[in-house]
Amino acid sequence: MKKIHSTHTILSIKQVCAKFVQIAIEAPQLAKTGRPGQFLNVRVSDGSDPLLRRPFGIYRAQDNIVEMLVEIRGRGTAMLARKKPARPWTSLDPWEDPLRCRRRR
Ligand SMILES: Cc1cc2nc3c(=O)[nH]c(=O)nc-3n(C[C@H](O)[C@H](O)[C@H](O)COP(=O)(O)OP(=O)(O)OC[C@H]3O[C@@H](n4cnc5c(N)ncnc54)[C@H](O)[C@@H]3O)c2cc1C
Repeated sequence: MKKIHSTHTILSIKQVCAKFVQIAIEAPQLAKTGRPGQFLNVRVSDGSDPLLRRPFGIYRAQDNIVEMLVEIRGRGTAMLARKKPARPWTSLDPWEDPLRCRRRR
C-alpha cells in the first residue's frame, strides 16, 4: 500500500471507559485496504501545536468506516478525544504491511 496523506471526516467519538475513546472516521478507500495492525499518523490539532503526529492502530475497517481505539495518555490524545463529529481528521495513512506477531515453534 502506498503512503497517502489524506483528510477524512470524524463520524463519532465514543467514550468506552474512563481512559479510552473509540473513534470512527469515514474513509471508504482506507476501509477497503486498511487492516488491523496497520497504523495512521494523525494530526491532533488544526494548527501546528503539537507539531508531531500521533500514531494509532486500525482497530476495525469495514463498510467505508475505519475505527481506532485510543487511550487518553497526554495532551495530544486529550485533544483528539475532545474533537467533534463532522470535523476533519488528517492523517498519513498506512503504507507498510501490518505489524505481525510471529508464532513460536
Ligand atoms: C505504531 C504505534 C501504534 C499505536 N497505536 C495506538 C493505538 O491504537 N491506540 C492507542 O491508544 N495508542 C496507540 N499508540 C500510542 C499512542 O500513539 C500514544 O499514546 C500517543 O501518541 C500519546 O500522545 P499524547 O500526546 O496523548 O501523549 P504525550 O503527551 O506525547 O505523552 C503523555 C505521557 O504518556 C507517555 N506515553 C506516551 N505514549 C506512550 C506509550 N505508547 N507507552 C507508554 N507511555 C507513553 C509519555 O512518555 C508521557 O509521559 C501507538 C503507538 C505507536 C508507536
